[in-house]
Amino acid sequence: MAALQPVRGTRDLLPEECLRHRHVRESAQRVAALYGYQEIATPIFEFSEVFVRTLGDTSDIVTKEMYTFTDRGGESVTLRPEGTAGVARAAISEGLVHALPVKLFYAGPMFRYERPQKGRMRQFHQVGVELLGVAEPLADVEVVAMAAQVLEALGVLAHITLELNTLGDGESRRAYREALVAYLGRYRDDLSEESRARLDRNPLRILDSKDEGDRRIVAGAPPIDRFLTPAAAGFFAAVCAGLATAGVAHRVSPRLVRGLDYYCHTAFEFTTQALGAQGTVLAGGRYDGLIEAMGGPAVPGVGWAMGIDRLAMLVGEPPAPDRPVAVIPIGTAAEVEALRLAQGLRRDGLPVDLGYRGSLKRRLARADKVNARAAVLLGEDELKRGIATVRDLDSGAQAQVPLAEVEAHLRRLVQGGP
Ligand code: ATP
Ligand code: MG
Repeated sequence: MAALQPVRGTRDLLPEECLRHRHVRESAQRVAALYGYQEIATPIFEFSEVFVRTLGDTSDIVTKEMYTFTDRGGESVTLRPEGTAGVARAAISEGLVHALPVKLFYAGPMFRYERPQKGRMRQFHQVGVELLGVAEPLADVEVVAMAAQVLEALGVLAHITLELNTLGDGESRRAYREALVAYLGRYRDDLSEESRARLDRNPLRILDSKDEGDRRIVAGAPPIDRFLTPAAAGFFAAVCAGLATAGVAHRVSPRLVRGLDYYCHTAFEFTTQALGAQGTVLAGGRYDGLIEAMGGPAVPGVGWAMGIDRLAMLVGEPPAPDRPVAVIPIGTAAEVEALRLAQGLRRDGLPVDLGYRGSLKRRLARADKVNARAAVLLGEDELKRGIATVRDLDSGAQAQVPLAEVEAHLRRLVQGGP
């Protein structure tokens, strides 16, 4: 039955995969806290307008990737394809824009109707950060340095390149756009249909085309740096200098643009060769016009989003969870005492796996399967004497321990003692 499969482009994250996701998310959140970021959680769906107005009506996301539907009240709503628009909407509707600067962290699922492949899903997961209210290049430096520190904390930075570019200010982009149209216009007939359609409406977007033929043409396009106003060039120089001071290595990629309309000045991507075609693990930039375009005050912003699913494939083994203790009653008479003991240990914060049924052998096999550190064996003989047999499952050593001392004994084992 088709309905018993997850929908194409979605998948179940089983416990092992959830551990990896959690490791990525929590590492990012720990680093973000070092920079003063606090968590925000916005709804998973918003009025469609929130995305259409901000992402740009020629962006890939808006033209073909959004999960949009009309709800029972007749409102057009969209499952969020990215996090920035919702955070910007919340910053306006919750009044955060009146107490600037504000530094926000988020994590959660995003939805895009894309062609599923390795590293590209229709439901995927991001963590992201947004710094609102700071127009200075130091904000860009800090946000990029924080991204590098997250990747370093995850142990993957060595395999990752930071590519950096500037999209300049409005005046720079107008001049660049003209030069780009002049250049790309010469290849109009060779461009993909999609890019041809964008030539008049949004030529910068063509630089981000994934079409092979387009990419060859784009490789010869003029880079933006010749068209920067002195102010925009100065801003970019300050960002590059700040990154050097912060010890963050980068490469300037003069044709890097971002897929969304709201970006200006700094644009960046952290990419790896290790994931095949889907090599971008983290991307972001500056979006000074976004909040005003949504109907809020003129508040500058800069931020990034990181693909948790892609990073989960890159990181090594996540830290193992605390190993449990197996409590194993032998014979029905011991079951009451076993439950009492297990509950006491759990209340005191020790993870316990309580054997439900089966022979001693089966229960010990179960203890092995859950990677238990120790087994507490309770048989009738033990019960009579008010003790338990505690077996160190790593060394095999056994000790007879008075019931009142079992917990202290287990703690020594769990904490790595003898
Ligand atoms: P791409 O060029 O790969 O389509 P994008 O520019 O659309 O990426 P962003 O909107 O910048 O991606 O999202 C930031 C990060 O989120 C990406 O670098 C990637 O790691 C992750 N990401 C984006 N789309 C997907 C997806 N469909 N499946 C898994 N991860 C994704
Ligand atoms: Mg995309």
